[in-house]
Amino acid sequence: MTTQLEPSPTKIVCVGKNYADHARELGGEPPAQPLIFLKPPSSLIAGGETIRIPPAAGRVDFEGEVTFQVGKRASHVREEEALDYLSAVLPLNDVTCRDMQNLDGQWTRAKGFDTFCPVGAPVALDGIDIQALRVETRVNGELRQDGRFSDVVFGIETLVSYISRIMTLEAGDLIATGTPSGIGPLVPWDEVEVTIPGVGSVKNPVRAGSGEPWGIESLGS
Ligand code: MG
Repeated sequence: MTTQLEPSPTKIVCVGKNYADHARELGGEPPAQPLIFLKPPSSLIAGGETIRIPPAAGRVDFEGEVTFQVGKRASHVREEEALDYLSAVLPLNDVTCRDMQNLDGQWTRAKGFDTFCPVGAPVALDGIDIQALRVETRVNGELRQDGRFSDVVFGIETLVSYISRIMTLEAGDLIATGTPSGIGPLVPWDEVEVTIPGVGSVKNPVRAGSGEPWGIESLGS
């Protein structure tokens, strides 16, 4: 990985179904409490690096997300002080094997493949109006997602407080705040770009991964 994240994250904490319109497009409602999961740091890539679709993966989707970087160790943080623990904001693509996510019931495999976490360069939060942030995703230049961060069910202060009461957040860790509606599949030779206007973007080519097929069709029951 050649991301510009410094220090390197010990974990990437992601939030599922944090926009009501996205929860509905998946066939449900937003959860009553934040729904969190982890992506491994081994999934990180920088802009320009290649997203590899695993053989026989089924449908693989883009998910553009407003993401925050933790600036200092955070444990049992109150919402009122949560922003003190964040240092930067960046665009992130929570690439997801949708068929594996549905099949497995938990999301480690679907979300955890190498190259499944493209990130842009972090930008210091000083002077950034968090409530005004937006996230856009384009595939081959066509706008597919356009979400307002003010539409999230659980805001970043709530998320920092909630997550830090479960696991200690370390400097460098990432909190990906969920994706708005408009998700869709990626196929080899696509180019996908996640942009936070005024902050930056991360653009990646998509190619087929190598190796023997071993994906969803090889699972016995
Ligand atoms: Mg996501």
